[in-house]
Amino acid sequence: MAATPLEYVRVHRDRFLEELKALLRIPSISTLPEHKDDMEQAAQWLADHIRSIGISDVQVMPTAGHPIVYAEWLGAGPDAPTVLIYGHYDVQPVDPVEEWHTPPFEPTIRGDTLYARGASDDKGQLFVHLKAIEAYLHTQGRLPLNIKVLLEGEEECGSPNLAPFIQKHAQRLQADVALISDTHILEPDQPSIVYSLRGLSYIELTVQGPAHDLHSGMYGGAVDNPLHVLARLIAALHDATGRCGCARFLRRCAPAERRGTC
Ligand SMILES: [Zn+2]
Repeated sequence: MAATPLEYVRVHRDRFLEELKALLRIPSISTLPEHKDDMEQAAQWLADHIRSIGISDVQVMPTAGHPIVYAEWLGAGPDAPTVLIYGHYDVQPVDPVEEWHTPPFEPTIRGDTLYARGASDDKGQLFVHLKAIEAYLHTQGRLPLNIKVLLEGEEECGSPNLAPFIQKHAQRLQADVALISDTHILEPDQPSIVYSLRGLSYIELTVQGPAHDLHSGMYGGAVDNPLHVLARLIAALHDATGRCGCARFLRRCAPAERRGTC
Protein backbone atom coordinates (compact mmCIF):
# COMPACT_ATOMS: atom_id res chain seq x y z
CA MET A 1 0.00 0.00 0.00
CA ALA A 2 1.57 3.27 -1.12
CA ALA A 3 1.78 5.96 1.54
CA THR A 4 2.72 8.96 -0.58
CA PRO A 5 1.57 10.14 -4.02
CA LEU A 6 5.04 9.50 -5.42
CA GLU A 7 5.12 5.94 -4.08
CA TYR A 8 1.65 5.40 -5.53
CA VAL A 9 2.87 6.52 -8.95
CA ARG A 10 5.82 4.10 -8.77
CA VAL A 11 3.65 1.17 -7.67
CA HIS A 12 1.05 1.77 -10.39
CA ARG A 13 3.34 2.86 -13.20
CA ASP A 14 2.63 -0.13 -15.46
CA ARG A 15 -1.13 0.27 -15.11
CA PHE A 16 -0.85 4.01 -15.83
CA LEU A 17 1.06 3.16 -19.01
CA GLU A 18 -1.55 0.67 -20.18
CA GLU A 19 -4.32 3.19 -19.53
CA LEU A 20 -2.48 5.86 -21.50
CA LYS A 21 -2.05 3.39 -24.36
CA ALA A 22 -5.81 2.76 -24.37
CA LEU A 23 -6.41 6.51 -24.78
CA LEU A 24 -3.76 6.71 -27.51
CA ARG A 25 -5.46 3.93 -29.48
CA ILE A 26 -8.51 6.15 -30.07
CA PRO A 27 -7.85 7.97 -33.37
CA SER A 28 -9.28 11.30 -32.23
CA ILE A 29 -8.36 13.41 -35.26
CA SER A 30 -10.44 16.54 -34.91
CA THR A 31 -9.98 17.88 -38.43
CA LEU A 32 -11.32 14.81 -40.28
CA PRO A 33 -15.13 14.38 -40.26
CA GLU A 34 -14.81 10.59 -40.53
CA HIS A 35 -13.33 10.58 -37.02
CA LYS A 36 -16.29 12.31 -35.37
CA ASP A 37 -17.29 9.12 -33.55
CA ASP A 38 -13.71 8.67 -32.35
CA MET A 39 -13.81 12.18 -30.93
CA GLU A 40 -16.95 11.31 -28.99
CA GLN A 41 -15.35 8.08 -27.84
CA ALA A 42 -12.21 9.84 -26.62
CA ALA A 43 -14.25 12.42 -24.70
CA GLN A 44 -16.37 9.69 -23.12
CA TRP A 45 -13.28 7.60 -22.32
CA LEU A 46 -11.73 10.56 -20.49
CA ALA A 47 -14.92 11.34 -18.56
CA ASP A 48 -15.16 7.70 -17.47
CA HIS A 49 -11.50 7.67 -16.55
CA ILE A 50 -11.77 10.85 -14.48
CA ARG A 51 -14.69 9.24 -12.62
CA SER A 52 -12.59 6.11 -12.04
CA ILE A 53 -9.78 8.09 -10.38
CA GLY A 54 -12.18 9.54 -7.84
CA ILE A 55 -13.74 12.70 -9.27
CA SER A 56 -17.48 12.29 -9.60
CA ASP A 57 -18.27 15.74 -10.92
CA VAL A 58 -17.51 15.16 -14.62
CA GLN A 59 -19.41 16.14 -17.74
CA VAL A 60 -19.00 15.77 -21.46
CA MET A 61 -20.28 19.16 -22.55
CA PRO A 62 -21.41 19.75 -26.13
CA THR A 63 -20.13 22.64 -28.22
CA ALA A 64 -20.86 23.63 -31.80
CA GLY A 65 -18.00 21.27 -32.68
CA HIS A 66 -16.33 18.54 -30.64
CA PRO A 67 -17.29 18.20 -26.98
CA ILE A 68 -15.37 19.54 -24.00
CA VAL A 69 -14.73 17.28 -21.02
CA TYR A 70 -15.08 19.24 -17.80
CA ALA A 71 -14.46 18.02 -14.27
CA GLU A 72 -14.02 19.66 -10.92
CA TRP A 73 -13.03 18.73 -7.39
CA LEU A 74 -13.55 21.57 -4.93
CA GLY A 75 -13.06 19.65 -1.71
CA ALA A 76 -10.16 21.82 -0.53
CA GLY A 77 -12.68 24.51 0.35
CA PRO A 78 -13.29 28.13 -0.64
CA ASP A 79 -10.13 29.43 1.04
CA ALA A 80 -7.79 27.12 -0.91
CA PRO A 81 -6.46 28.19 -4.31
CA THR A 82 -8.11 26.79 -7.42
CA VAL A 83 -6.13 25.48 -10.38
CA LEU A 84 -7.67 25.18 -13.83
CA ILE A 85 -5.93 22.44 -15.79
CA TYR A 86 -6.21 22.65 -19.57
CA GLY A 87 -5.50 19.87 -22.04
CA HIS A 88 -6.74 18.64 -25.40
CA TYR A 89 -7.63 15.14 -26.49
CA ASP A 90 -7.64 15.71 -30.23
CA VAL A 91 -4.61 14.86 -32.34
CA GLN A 92 -3.23 15.83 -35.73
CA PRO A 93 -3.75 13.72 -38.85
CA VAL A 94 -1.14 11.02 -39.46
CA ASP A 95 -0.21 11.60 -43.11
CA PRO A 96 2.10 10.52 -44.56
CA VAL A 97 1.37 7.27 -42.77
CA GLU A 98 4.16 5.38 -44.59
CA GLU A 99 6.72 7.46 -42.70
CA TRP A 100 5.65 5.98 -39.38
CA HIS A 101 7.87 3.15 -38.17
CA THR A 102 4.93 1.67 -36.26
CA PRO A 103 1.19 2.33 -36.71
CA PRO A 104 0.27 5.77 -35.28
CA PHE A 105 -2.61 4.43 -33.22
CA GLU A 106 -0.83 1.35 -31.95
CA PRO A 107 1.28 2.69 -29.08
CA THR A 108 4.75 1.19 -29.21
CA ILE A 109 7.64 1.49 -26.80
CA ARG A 110 11.14 1.69 -28.27
CA GLY A 111 13.84 2.25 -25.71
CA ASP A 112 12.35 4.63 -23.16
CA THR A 113 10.07 6.34 -25.64
CA LEU A 114 6.39 5.73 -26.26
CA TYR A 115 5.45 6.29 -29.90
CA ALA A 116 1.86 7.05 -30.92
CA ARG A 117 0.02 9.99 -32.42
CA GLY A 118 -0.82 12.32 -29.55
CA ALA A 119 1.59 10.70 -27.07
CA SER A 120 3.44 13.99 -26.63
CA ASP A 121 0.66 16.34 -27.82
CA ASP A 122 -1.36 16.31 -25.71
CA LYS A 123 -2.70 13.02 -24.38
CA GLY A 124 0.50 12.17 -22.50
CA GLN A 125 0.66 15.56 -20.81
CA LEU A 126 -3.00 15.72 -19.80
CA PHE A 127 -2.68 12.18 -18.46
CA VAL A 128 0.14 13.28 -16.15
CA HIS A 129 -2.27 15.66 -14.45
CA LEU A 130 -5.00 13.05 -14.12
CA LYS A 131 -2.55 10.57 -12.62
CA ALA A 132 -1.21 13.18 -10.18
CA ILE A 133 -4.79 13.81 -9.04
CA GLU A 134 -5.37 10.06 -8.71
CA ALA A 135 -2.18 9.60 -6.70
CA TYR A 136 -3.24 12.29 -4.23
CA LEU A 137 -6.83 11.15 -3.90
CA HIS A 138 -5.80 7.52 -3.35
CA THR A 139 -3.07 8.20 -0.80
CA GLN A 140 -4.15 11.41 0.95
CA GLY A 141 -7.88 11.12 0.43
CA ARG A 142 -7.94 14.69 -0.83
CA LEU A 143 -6.14 17.23 -2.96
CA PRO A 144 -4.19 20.16 -1.51
CA LEU A 145 -5.97 22.50 -3.97
CA ASN A 146 -9.26 22.84 -5.71
CA ILE A 147 -9.03 21.48 -9.22
CA LYS A 148 -10.94 22.23 -12.39
CA VAL A 149 -10.10 20.24 -15.51
CA LEU A 150 -11.00 21.37 -19.03
CA LEU A 151 -10.11 19.04 -21.89
CA GLU A 152 -11.06 20.25 -25.34
CA GLY A 153 -11.22 18.42 -28.66
CA GLU A 154 -10.44 21.19 -31.11
CA GLU A 155 -6.96 22.46 -30.30
CA GLU A 156 -5.55 21.08 -33.53
CA CYS A 157 -8.09 23.03 -35.57
CA GLY A 158 -7.75 26.41 -33.87
CA SER A 159 -10.11 25.93 -30.90
CA PRO A 160 -13.05 27.68 -32.61
CA ASN A 161 -15.49 26.81 -29.83
CA LEU A 162 -13.24 27.29 -26.80
CA ALA A 163 -13.62 31.07 -26.43
CA PRO A 164 -17.45 30.93 -26.61
CA PHE A 165 -17.38 28.08 -24.08
CA ILE A 166 -15.19 30.07 -21.70
CA GLN A 167 -17.39 33.13 -22.05
CA LYS A 168 -20.52 31.09 -21.41
CA HIS A 169 -19.06 29.34 -18.37
CA ALA A 170 -16.79 32.12 -17.10
CA GLN A 171 -18.15 31.97 -13.58
CA ARG A 172 -17.73 28.23 -13.31
CA LEU A 173 -14.21 28.26 -14.79
CA GLN A 174 -12.92 30.90 -12.38
CA ALA A 175 -9.53 29.91 -10.99
CA ASP A 176 -6.45 31.44 -9.40
CA VAL A 177 -4.13 29.96 -11.97
CA ALA A 178 -4.41 28.08 -15.26
CA LEU A 179 -2.02 25.20 -15.79
CA ILE A 180 -1.38 24.22 -19.39
CA SER A 181 0.91 21.35 -20.24
CA ASP A 182 0.57 21.38 -23.99
CA THR A 183 4.31 21.90 -24.14
CA HIS A 184 7.63 20.10 -23.78
CA ILE A 185 10.22 19.22 -21.20
CA LEU A 186 13.90 19.78 -21.86
CA GLU A 187 14.97 16.27 -20.84
CA PRO A 188 13.16 13.28 -19.34
CA ASP A 189 14.72 14.07 -15.98
CA GLN A 190 14.57 17.84 -16.33
CA PRO A 191 11.03 19.20 -16.11
CA SER A 192 10.49 22.66 -17.57
CA ILE A 193 8.17 25.55 -16.94
CA VAL A 194 7.21 27.04 -20.27
CA TYR A 195 5.98 30.61 -20.37
CA SER A 196 5.70 33.61 -22.67
CA LEU A 197 4.54 31.48 -25.56
CA ARG A 198 3.54 33.46 -28.61
CA GLY A 199 0.28 33.16 -30.43
CA LEU A 200 -0.83 33.15 -34.02
CA SER A 201 -2.72 35.76 -35.95
CA TYR A 202 -4.12 35.09 -39.39
CA ILE A 203 -4.80 38.17 -41.46
CA GLU A 204 -5.76 38.57 -45.08
CA LEU A 205 -4.81 42.02 -46.23
CA THR A 206 -5.55 43.63 -49.57
CA VAL A 207 -3.63 46.73 -50.63
CA GLN A 208 -5.07 48.47 -53.63
CA GLY A 209 -3.10 50.76 -55.88
CA PRO A 210 -3.94 52.92 -58.87
CA ALA A 211 -6.65 51.61 -61.18
CA HIS A 212 -4.28 51.62 -64.14
CA ASP A 213 -0.55 51.52 -64.86
CA LEU A 214 1.39 54.66 -63.99
CA HIS A 215 4.58 55.50 -65.86
CA SER A 216 7.52 54.69 -63.61
CA GLY A 217 9.55 57.67 -64.81
CA MET A 218 6.71 60.06 -64.06
CA TYR A 219 5.17 58.54 -60.93
CA GLY A 220 7.78 56.11 -59.58
CA GLY A 221 8.54 56.87 -55.94
CA ALA A 222 5.77 59.45 -55.77
CA VAL A 223 2.87 56.99 -55.86
CA ASP A 224 3.05 53.95 -53.64
CA ASN A 225 3.30 50.57 -55.25
CA PRO A 226 1.06 48.11 -53.33
CA LEU A 227 3.89 45.53 -53.32
CA HIS A 228 6.21 48.01 -51.61
CA VAL A 229 3.55 48.89 -49.07
CA LEU A 230 3.00 45.19 -48.33
CA ALA A 231 6.75 44.62 -48.03
CA ARG A 232 7.01 47.49 -45.52
CA LEU A 233 4.09 46.14 -43.54
CA ILE A 234 5.54 42.62 -43.38
CA ALA A 235 9.04 43.86 -42.56
CA ALA A 236 7.59 45.92 -39.71
CA LEU A 237 6.02 42.88 -37.99
CA HIS A 238 9.31 42.10 -36.23
CA ASP A 239 12.29 44.24 -35.41
CA ALA A 240 15.91 43.24 -36.06
CA THR A 241 16.03 41.21 -32.84
CA GLY A 242 12.88 39.25 -33.67
CA ARG A 243 10.66 41.17 -31.28
CA CYS A 244 7.12 41.56 -32.44
CA GLY A 245 6.87 45.06 -33.82
CA CYS A 246 3.36 45.05 -35.18
CA ALA A 247 1.85 46.97 -32.27
CA ARG A 248 4.60 49.55 -32.52
CA PHE A 249 4.07 49.75 -36.26
CA LEU A 250 0.36 50.31 -35.93
CA ARG A 251 0.90 52.95 -33.29
CA ARG A 252 3.71 54.93 -34.87
CA CYS A 253 4.47 53.92 -38.38
CA ALA A 254 1.01 53.50 -39.83
CA PRO A 255 -0.07 57.11 -39.21
CA ALA A 256 3.27 58.28 -40.62
CA GLU A 257 2.79 55.99 -43.59
CA ARG A 258 -0.49 57.69 -44.25
CA ARG A 259 1.27 61.06 -44.16
CA GLY A 260 3.97 59.76 -46.48
CA THR A 261 6.77 60.34 -43.99
CA CYS A 262 7.45 56.76 -42.80
ZN1 LIG B 1 -1.16 20.43 -28.33
